Amino acid sequence: SPLFSAIEMAPRDPILGITEGFNADKNPAKVNLGVGVYYDDNGKVPLLECVRKAEAILMEKLAPRTYLPIEGLAAYDKAVQELVFGADSAVVQEKRAVTVQAIGGTGALKIGADFLQRFSPNSQVWISDPSWENHRALFESAGFVVNNYPYYDAATRGVNFAGMLDALKTMPSGSIVLLHACCHNPTGADLTDDQWTQVIEVVTQRGLVPFLDMAYQGFGDGIEADGKVVRRFAEAGGALFVSNSFSKSFSLYGERVGALSIAAATAEEASRVLSQLKRVVRTNYSNPPTHGGQVVATVLATPELRALWEEELAGMRVRIREMRQLFVKQLKEKAPAHDFDFVIKQRGMFSYSGLTKVQVEALRDNNSIYAVDTGRICVAALNSKNIDNVIDAIAKVL
Ligand code: PLP
Repeated sequence: SPLFSAIEMAPRDPILGITEGFNADKNPAKVNLGVGVYYDDNGKVPLLECVRKAEAILMEKLAPRTYLPIEGLAAYDKAVQELVFGADSAVVQEKRAVTVQAIGGTGALKIGADFLQRFSPNSQVWISDPSWENHRALFESAGFVVNNYPYYDAATRGVNFAGMLDALKTMPSGSIVLLHACCHNPTGADLTDDQWTQVIEVVTQRGLVPFLDMAYQGFGDGIEADGKVVRRFAEAGGALFVSNSFSKSFSLYGERVGALSIAAATAEEASRVLSQLKRVVRTNYSNPPTHGGQVVATVLATPELRALWEEELAGMRVRIREMRQLFVKQLKEKAPAHDFDFVIKQRGMFSYSGLTKVQVEALRDNNSIYAVDTGRICVAALNSKNIDNVIDAIAKVL
């Protein structure tokens, strides 16, 4: 048809391309470090015990599958809002926050972007350089011009904080600033508390609109510690957008559970915001699916399941940390001329390892070890069985 004959092939998703290559690889010792998924020490995606128990409770009830409200399951929205802002926070107590269930963290970003496009179409969006690759595409597809602010500094393997702050200081009022609340993807480099203080100050003074993306709460220093920046922004009092995801923290990737929360100045303002947010959802997918939201709401609202979740999440966090330490220790032995200490300081699932594109290609071609061209590796895909092999291979390409 003339309609289709003019359509060009879209570029391949770089990360899915790695997985395709990995799947086709016949080497039994192959390792995929290109993923954005947590694997346990057996190389499996875990089904958390708290999820299994919540699902058993839900199976027992066998509730009919009616439509959820447009904004999602009320018990879920409440539990998520309290998790994100703190049950005793002023925004929650004063009913200045609204939370809508979303189709994963991606869905939360997208309804936030569509909402902003409707009410602030002339603002531009700023994302970190680099950022999760979907951030740019998502906001562009919502109609925004998307810019980068300086973030990663390859020389120090940390954050170019002076550059970031300078960029924030020159953005026009109303600019939308996307910030990673914790466990920066792809670099693993996070801001310190003191740096956040300065960011919050500039954002507030200049009337910028912060959009915090929290896809890895609990993978950095703990649920509370990782979420602290959200509470600090909320206390600063301006408009605030927060997307969060339970894909990783509940290992519920395919259930697509996330949420968008917005903090406003008054309860009345918040109710107007919610009414418009519901319009955005209604015209996108009408209302969210039931199962994942029910599982998360059940776990968060049942004290013993919640305690179990916190324990299991801590287990994932600690295992990643141990892998970081082992990675650095073994590379010290096998490649003493190279300093990888920065890997221990990085937070979350990922490490910007410093491996070059050529080295990444050599790892793939010689050893069936798959990483992203930028050198991003998923530390959560390392385990006690594959790490020796990975270290030997990296030591060889350095
Ligand atoms: N934001 C960041 C920074 C991410 O890394 C991801 C997932 O990898 C998401 C959002 C999207 O999360 P979800 O899979 O829940 O849509």
